[in-house]
Amino acid sequence: MTSRRVAFATLGCRLNQVDSQRLQAALEARGFSTVAFGAAADVVVVNTCTVTARAEVSDRQAIRRARRANPDARVVVTGCWAQTSADEVAREAGVDLVVGNADKERLPALLDEILEGPRPRAPRVEVGDLRGARLADVDPRPRALGRSRAFLKIQDGCQHRCAFCIVPRARGASRSLEPKLVADQVRLLVEAGRPEVTLTGIDLGHYGADLVPRTSLAALLRELVEIEGLRWLRLSSMLPAYFTEDVLDVLTGAPAIAPHFHLPLQSGSDRVLRAMRRPYSTAMYRSVVERLTRAIPMLGLGADVIAGFPGETEEDAAATQALIEALPFTYLHVFPYSDRKGTEAAARPGHVDGKTVAGRAARLRALGAAKAGAFRRALVGRTEDVLVLETRDRTTGSLVGLTGNYVEVVFGGPDALMRRVARVRVARADAGVHGDLVADPQGGPSK
Ligand code: SF4
Repeated sequence: MTSRRVAFATLGCRLNQVDSQRLQAALEARGFSTVAFGAAADVVVVNTCTVTARAEVSDRQAIRRARRANPDARVVVTGCWAQTSADEVAREAGVDLVVGNADKERLPALLDEILEGPRPRAPRVEVGDLRGARLADVDPRPRALGRSRAFLKIQDGCQHRCAFCIVPRARGASRSLEPKLVADQVRLLVEAGRPEVTLTGIDLGHYGADLVPRTSLAALLRELVEIEGLRWLRLSSMLPAYFTEDVLDVLTGAPAIAPHFHLPLQSGSDRVLRAMRRPYSTAMYRSVVERLTRAIPMLGLGADVIAGFPGETEEDAAATQALIEALPFTYLHVFPYSDRKGTEAAARPGHVDGKTVAGRAARLRALGAAKAGAFRRALVGRTEDVLVLETRDRTTGSLVGLTGNYVEVVFGGPDALMRRVARVRVARADAGVHGDLVADPQGGPSK
């Protein structure tokens, strides 16, 4: 029997990508072979996002492209849009199966059912209640998730209710993977030749609070940083309120922690943060950043910012600009506010007009670019360890390495360095950062 072919289209965040990779592993274990999206396939899985209205437009486009490319395939739609709007998804032409986030683990078995016999006349909808959902066991043989970098999902769901966000409805309450399973996975990834592992989650700092016995992110990190051969443990985005003394102690004291954190800010105005229902103040944010910067030289620091949240005044926007100017960010993700149907923010009065939103976003982006440029120039002359990525730079054909503080450096070197840690001297920084491989005392490339 020829193997069945599956293609994936994954939209949205890193967590969705990790989910798709896990699904891919589960399907390959059942004999599927994975082909590129757009190639001939028997099944196309569209893993959707619902974070903005624009995300849903992309979801719909992906479904249509899947159907156009493979008129006879089974088209399966899963992910956050499937969870929050199952009926709407099922009305999209050409969809055969809709699977919610709580039911993703059942997707391979569901596929077996719908692949038998002719295409169903109406889509089958399997979208359960997220209450009581658990983070299922992970594959005991971890694949190297991500092409070069290894991402490990340790938590899903969110305990917060930010006014602009639909994610808690799409992902449910916070739930964590048992610490032993996390540690085993990290060990296996390191043994499989991955010197860096990124821990991902939606509400990462809440890790462990749902487990029995209860545990914490600090306890988990203390265990993980001792794993032999792990060069860098990196954290995905985490709310400032979770940087407790315990967590900060590990983050600032363990050499295995990558010197890079992403702390979503969203606004530099306390009034707007309250309206957004964000669980921190600007004072708390500042103090976490100051503590991290004092302890970690050349810290990579990123943030998300929303421009033009409903009710944001010129003074609020100026406060955001001033806070960002004052703090040592090394990159910024700026999001012009746009309504997400069903959120509290969408129903708020005081929507800022589009032109003003765009102007504020442009100012923030310019500030973010200036800060990123200054940080890159500060790297010139330094020698940095980099994780060598698996794909070469498209324009120059050079290798690409990611520094601990999250800057990509391009440099010449052999393919054999890919996925390993190399030593690079940064030579110049312009639109990109360029470096030279540093030879070790034996004359070969350093490890
Ligand atoms: S912390 Fe807020 S923005 Fe982040 S997922 Fe939870 S509700 Fe959404």
